[in-house]
Amino acid sequence: MAKCSECGGDNAKKLSVIEKLGSSSGTATGTGIGVTGGGIGVGAHSTRTRSKTDAARESEFHSTVDIKHGVVGTIGPWVSGAVLLILWYNGEFWAGLIVGFVMLFLSFFIDTFTESGQRASDEWISAYREEKNTYAKTWMCLDCGYKWVGKK
Ligand SMILES: [Zn+2]
Repeated sequence: MAKCSECGGDNAKKLSVIEKLGSSSGTATGTGIGVTGGGIGVGAHSTRTRSKTDAARESEFHSTVDIKHGVVGTIGPWVSGAVLLILWYNGEFWAGLIVGFVMLFLSFFIDTFTESGQRASDEWISAYREEKNTYAKTWMCLDCGYKWVGKK
């Protein structure tokens, strides 16, 4: 519990706590009747559900950091797209699809071994950690919805 500086209420919690408290899981069951050529069949199914309150949904962690690629990973999709189009133009539909896909995959794979690719992924990881860290310190007032980042 913490005090809200916006409305003075005493009903503020950390986002991660609101998210946990507002989530409940249960089992939803349903029955169904199906008519087939041979007769009538009755079936029941149950599905695990996970419901969340609006506040819990709002306090979920969402990353806004885009995945970054190095030089190879950045030009890779363009090169594989061009190769795919050239092969399609020559009537090679499946070859174009397979070669384009393999080249796309390889460019991301090779990218992780290049210096620029590693730098890009390091940047992404630290930006993501920073975001997660901020989330862990963010409080929300359940009375007025005011959010702020605390010291810890
Ligand atoms: Zn408030």
